[in-house]
Amino acid sequence: MSKVLVIGCGGVASVAIQKCCQVSDVFSELCIASRTKSKCDALAEKLAPITSTRITTAQVDADDVDQLIALIKSYGPDLVMNIALPYQDLTIMDACLACGVNYMDTANYEPEDTDDPAWRAVYEKRCREEGFSAYFDYSWQWAYKKKFEDAGLTALLGCGFDPGVTQAYCAYAAKHEFDAIDTIDILDCNGGDHGYAFATNFNPEINLREVSAPGSYWEDGHWVEIPAMSIKREYDFDQVGRKDMYLLHHEEIESLARNIPGVKRIRFFMTFGQSYLDHMRCLEDVGMLSTTPVQYNGQEIVPIQFLKALLPDPASLGPRTKGKTNIGCIFTGTRDGKPKTWYIYNVCDHQACYREVGSQAISYTTGVPAMCGALMMLTGQWNKPGVYTVEEFDPDPFLDALDKYGLPRSVNGAPALVD
Ligand code: NDP
Repeated sequence: MSKVLVIGCGGVASVAIQKCCQVSDVFSELCIASRTKSKCDALAEKLAPITSTRITTAQVDADDVDQLIALIKSYGPDLVMNIALPYQDLTIMDACLACGVNYMDTANYEPEDTDDPAWRAVYEKRCREEGFSAYFDYSWQWAYKKKFEDAGLTALLGCGFDPGVTQAYCAYAAKHEFDAIDTIDILDCNGGDHGYAFATNFNPEINLREVSAPGSYWEDGHWVEIPAMSIKREYDFDQVGRKDMYLLHHEEIESLARNIPGVKRIRFFMTFGQSYLDHMRCLEDVGMLSTTPVQYNGQEIVPIQFLKALLPDPASLGPRTKGKTNIGCIFTGTRDGKPKTWYIYNVCDHQACYREVGSQAISYTTGVPAMCGALMMLTGQWNKPGVYTVEEFDPDPFLDALDKYGLPRSVNGAPALVD
């Protein structure tokens, strides 16, 4: 019997909340708190007749630590699930520390204001010394490790699918399948079609920034950075078929490089259709992906935020999206002195997700792991004081929970990617 505060009520949070409500014996009380309370109220109203979880709602600006502290103190949760945006990670972690509550999220910290001098100084140092230029990295949240240790609290970072499940797949491979892992290729394929020429499957601002940034991968102990979309491969995905995919920087590479002993190379690939890429390039060329405010008619406008207002709401794609996702990891390494290749992945059907929770598979494949991660923490299976990513916990009960709650694993010995 636990009390959980969920912050955010967008595409991913609404799936996670619905899944929590399917496990009412653990998630006995939930408070849904977000910037727009009417969205929380609408979801609570939808769920009330079909769950025994007791749901309340609240309005909160998660950029404001004092508001968060007041809410957490008044509700008294066992866990705060941050399913708002990465911009709020640090404020919510601060509030959890102030109130003595465990924390989890689905994406690592990003600054909302990339002109902030304090952030900029750290960023430029990292570009210089570590050779990669992603806006998002774990250093800000890892810096909280000692504070969480001293407080005897757990912070679980990045518990969606990727990051999240992909790291559990890595921990599982290291625990059960290999004596030594040499390479990890994370393959994220969305074979879904929503019928729009251009739309993003989750928060457009986060998605477009991630995709338009330089790519990078980890090799022989250092980062290799490449121009955006400059490494392309084709892969024949189970239940989806042949797709073009491109190498991107992705946050789990950073933690896996630390936590998978001896790994020589880690790459992340995501599939994109030609229409998506053509639109994105064009938007970038005209400056619409910029996060720097411009003045227009006496008003300050952030181009990428304005673009977000024009694009379809990812939550509205559910009924239109048909097809499947296939996300997983291919490992090469050795077992009992022999070379070995091993592939583990999940296939998820957009329409099946929509029938179950009213969302497409991107929100579903993130929201279900968020619920399962919370389940691990609330049932005492993933608790240790400090700040951790998914591969630092036992993957077995988590993967069992994913099998049970909608994201079963498939395993085969598909060939490794050709270099
Ligand atoms: P949405 O934009 O759909 O939802 C974000 C929610 O957060 C909205 O309810 C929004 O409120 C709320 N919010 C934003 N700012 C604040 C604030 N200052 N205070 C309170 N609430 C706020 O995003 P998604 O659901 O698509 O994504 C949620 C998270 O999941 C993101 O961090 C994203 O990066 C991550 N993600 C992770 C993946 C993974 O595999 N690990 C994959 C996909 C996403 P409002 O309704 O008022 O806008």
